[in-house]
Parts: sequence; C-alpha cells; structure tokens
Amino acid sequence: MKKIIVTIDGPAGAGKSTTARRVAERLGYIYIDTGAMYRAVTLAALRQGTAMTDHELGELATATEIQMEPGFNGQTVVMNGEDVTKAIRQADVTSNVSQVSTFPSVRRALVLRQRAMGFNGGVVMDGRDIGSVVFPNAQVKVFLVADPEERIRRRLAEALDRGDEIDAEQVRNQIMGRDKLDSERADSPLVKPDGATEIDTTRLTIDDQVEQILAMVHSYQKTYDLVSKYGNF
Ligand code: C5P
Repeated sequence: MKKIIVTIDGPAGAGKSTTARRVAERLGYIYIDTGAMYRAVTLAALRQGTAMTDHELGELATATEIQMEPGFNGQTVVMNGEDVTKAIRQADVTSNVSQVSTFPSVRRALVLRQRAMGFNGGVVMDGRDIGSVVFPNAQVKVFLVADPEERIRRRLAEALDRGDEIDAEQVRNQIMGRDKLDSERADSPLVKPDGATEIDTTRLTIDDQVEQILAMVHSYQKTYDLVSKYGNF
C-alpha cells in the first residue's frame, strides 16, 4: 500500500489529536502533533526568559531539539534531552503558545522540520497549517470543526482529568483567545485548507471520525493502485 500523508487541522478541542493518533495506529503510520512542537519552544522561551521578538524566538526555535516518540499513553515529547510531555501542557505554556506561534521565524524553523518528518509519507500530522502550508499537496486533508461550547466542554474535562485547577470560564477565555490569535495572525493563519474535507465533530464519536478518515485514505489508495496498474483511465 502506498504510504501517504494525512493532514488534520482545526481549532483547539475539535478532536484533532485523539483522532489523528487513532488513525495513525490503524494505518501503522507515525503520528506527529505539531502543536507539541510550538509548545516545546514556548516552554523553552518561558524558562530562559527569551525576549518575545521574531529574531530571538527564531534562534531559540532553531536551537531547541525536539523529539517526538510514540509513548504508552499518547506521544512523549523530549526537549533537549528532557521529557517535557507534561510540562508543555501547563497553563503558562497554554496561555503563551499562540503568541509565540505568530512569529514567522519560529514557524519557518518548525515547518522545515515537519516537512522533513513527513517527507517519506506514512504520517498523520495535526495542527493549524498542515494542509495549507506544511503539506499543501498531501493526499488526504481533513479540517475538523466543532461548536465552541462542545470544544470548551472537552478541554475542561481534559484539564480536570489532569488535575489542573481551572474552571469553565477560564477554559472559555483560553480557547477564545487562542482561536482569535490563531485565525487572525498574518503568517499561516488557521484556515480550512484548499481541498480539505470538513468534518463537524460536535455530535460524532471518535470512532465515527476515525472511520470517515480511514475511508478517505482507503479510497485514495485504491485509486492509486488502479492507476499504477492500468495507467490513467
Ligand atoms: O494543538 P495545540 O492546541 O496543542 O496547539 C497549541 C498552539 O500551537 C495553537 O493554539 C497554535 O497557536 C500553535 N500551533 C500552530 N501551528 C500548528 C500547531 C499549533 O500555530 N501547526
């Protein structure tokens, strides 16, 4: 079977990471959570007190080693040799990451790495600009959306599960603030990529989402096999 690239974009709480991880598992592909890369750079910047300028943050993003390894419960993120899987979900990182992500030098540094990671196919990559900027020619492109109230509910449940001390109003403010910064920034804003299939997950189960995406992948692969065998028809 041809190993392809599957991109999954959308706002926070639309269901990207759980869906992407399961799709990758089912296909035997690698799952890459690009939000974790922006979070790792933000964590490094907060720890080092880096000035919030394009130049300083760009240098930091280039110098920061980030490894993503499939872990027991999701993905393990290693930054400069340290396991930061938990640290990158802390509230101070969440409230600064969208600001850090607006800087073009940061994006350039991370997009280059994301392209290298997906170059050989066999990846499911999720984020905000994967189908629009990182891999505009990906074979299967998905844009996940959900009602804001449902996205807030999901993010609150996740935060409480982790033991964070946060209430619905704080989660609402975080999500709304990030949505605004992510969709209004000049460089690579969150948009529905050209040619992406939109899936509204408000009333879908994770299984439904996964099956819909797998059907798209299988349909692509079937056609690809026929074309490879018989030429265009
Ligand atoms: O996916 P997650 O919510 O962890 O992403 C954190 C933040 O990283 C997003 O709100 C966005 O500001 C940034 N991001 C981005 N481009 C991506 C992935 C994430 O700008 N491809």
